[in-house]
Amino acid sequence: MDEARDSGSPAPVVAAARRMHSDLLRTKHAAEDVLVAFVLDCSRCDRRVHWVPGEGCELGRWAHSEPAPKDHWPRLRGGGLK
Ligand SMILES: [Zn+2]
Repeated sequence: MDEARDSGSPAPVVAAARRMHSDLLRTKHAAEDVLVAFVLDCSRCDRRVHWVPGEGCELGRWAHSEPAPKDHWPRLRGGGLK
């Protein structure tokens, strides 16, 4: 997007780049809306694991929903919808 602007592209090109960026964000949010509906169990400590959405363009991650040992990432086992 910066490239489009810096190279002196006509406004429509910059606008299209901007639109693509917001479409990307919307898609990411839609995907995360589905992911946060899942509540799974960690197969290592039996604690609940849920999806934590990321900030902005950043992708979220799975995390324990209760305090858990910091030395392990949640390991997912089956589960279901909330
Ligand atoms: Zn765990």
